[in-house]
Amino acid sequence: MGMTGIQIFKLLPKTNCGECGVPTCLAFAMNLAAGKAELDQCPYVSEEAKEILAAESAPPIRPLTIGVGDYAVTIGGETVMFRHEKTFINPPGLAAIVTTDEDDASIDGKISRFKELQYERVGLILRPELFALKDTSGDAGKFTALVNKVKDACEASLILMSEKPDVMKAALEIVKDKKPLIYAATEENVEDMGNLAKESECPIAVKGSGGFESVIPLTEKLTEMGLKDIVIDTGSRTPYKAFEDQVIIRKAALQDRFRPLGFPTITLPAEMTDDPMYETLLSAMFVAKYGALIVMSDFQPESLFPLLLERLNIYTDPQRPMTAEEGIYPIGNPDENSPVLVTCNFSLTYFIVSGEIEGSRIPSWLCVADTEGLSVLTAWAAGKFTGESVGTFINKCGIADKVKHKNLIIPGYAAAISGELEEELPDWKILIGPREASQITSYLKNWKPE
Ligand code: SF4
Repeated sequence: MGMTGIQIFKLLPKTNCGECGVPTCLAFAMNLAAGKAELDQCPYVSEEAKEILAAESAPPIRPLTIGVGDYAVTIGGETVMFRHEKTFINPPGLAAIVTTDEDDASIDGKISRFKELQYERVGLILRPELFALKDTSGDAGKFTALVNKVKDACEASLILMSEKPDVMKAALEIVKDKKPLIYAATEENVEDMGNLAKESECPIAVKGSGGFESVIPLTEKLTEMGLKDIVIDTGSRTPYKAFEDQVIIRKAALQDRFRPLGFPTITLPAEMTDDPMYETLLSAMFVAKYGALIVMSDFQPESLFPLLLERLNIYTDPQRPMTAEEGIYPIGNPDENSPVLVTCNFSLTYFIVSGEIEGSRIPSWLCVADTEGLSVLTAWAAGKFTGESVGTFINKCGIADKVKHKNLIIPGYAAAISGELEEELPDWKILIGPREASQITSYLKNWKPE
């Protein structure tokens, strides 16, 4: 919240009744300002004060969702300029554009790539989420045919692109339940498009004539009409200007709390170049700064996969490592004679080690200890992968009931804990496994229970 405790205090009833859980209104105001209390904890705040405080506490960049179901994309809600300040929150949605003048073979190819191009990485499925359907003819019949074709063929969330209200209206009649993004309200059609957004309860994008200044009257107009879920396209199509707009909009929303620019943005590399490689580079730039929707001309594996990885990395909380759950993971139907390995719960380590075990085709038990997401060496150095902690975990996880032997393979990088671990697990023989995951196959092939 941008207000100080004293400013908030002036809006409270000042009766010091204590029903909010603290003895005075001033203490409650201080807690509110610090984000340690919720406004509805005070039952006596006036409607007027509620309105002011709610507006003050609203996120500086409005979060909103496009689509429904598995492919719904939530964008906006960001609170920092730079990822290292805290974290970026909602990854940008990736879309491919399909136009009414494209032939069936081209459209079918894009749809089948949309369905096929899905990648599993650290336990997550990485994939694009949207199609941007563009009306190039102003013909409602052609546009609705395209909308129907894509809607029936896949579950993608949709961006409907037409500046003609009658064409947009026809398309919304088919897919408004899928909550598509209406693109776009311009200076010429803002009133009509705004009304369509209100009637259909769908989010709406504004399109400026080039530059962030050009969208301010449009977002102000839509806000006056009572619309909140707004996306900004400044209309800039040169990389320099489009990039500059992104930075200015983010800065105005976060640092200046300038409400007319406090909305997520849509960027269109597809309309900035005909060169697929350059388009991918522009998309990568907007993933980093600060596109909330990125519209490309197509999905191709060589461009999509790196963009999905970049998005994953940038939108992973830098202060919270990705983790696997602590526990026993059976790999390849292990039995009572199968090897037992232990490792940390840093997600990447888990997926690399489990992948190597799977690749070895030797059924095994993989015990994953909670190291708060630290890798083996770091966890060992931080005292979170010690003989004592691993010993306690092995004793409590129940692996002893699953195998006849008592051999425990520890990572080669954690060889230093073997002595302490032997003391913790006197019934077990501690074996030092390979340092590198790539050596797991050859190690397991030579392993015999002792
Ligand atoms: S419940 Fe409201 S009126 Fe009562 S002390 Fe808390 S802030 Fe003041």
